[in-house]
Amino acid sequence: MSEANAQQIQTVTKPAHFTVSAEIDGFPVVIELEGKADALRQLIDKLKAIGATAPQKASTAPAKPAGAPVCSIHNTPMKASRKPGSYFCPRQIDGGAYCPEKG
Ligand SMILES: [Zn+2]
Repeated sequence: MSEANAQQIQTVTKPAHFTVSAEIDGFPVVIELEGKADALRQLIDKLKAIGATAPQKASTAPAKPAGAPVCSIHNTPMKASRKPGSYFCPRQIDGGAYCPEKG
């Protein structure tokens, strides 16, 4: 890359989006914040100052539900669909259509 090219590229400082989970006196709190990492640091310092703690459990949904059926076409585990108890294959078949396999 030449120097002239390097100058044309502008660094776009897009504010990052943070979601901070904390507990204050046992109450779960979620704070959404947009800005730089510095702002996040300040927020966490402030939270600690008012007695907030990190949540005891990560509130992430299980990535892979146990017992997911396996697609008979792709031989890969299916994904849980929005409808509880049913699964779909997230892969594609020839032609770009979604895999018709359902669990
Ligand atoms: Zn499939």
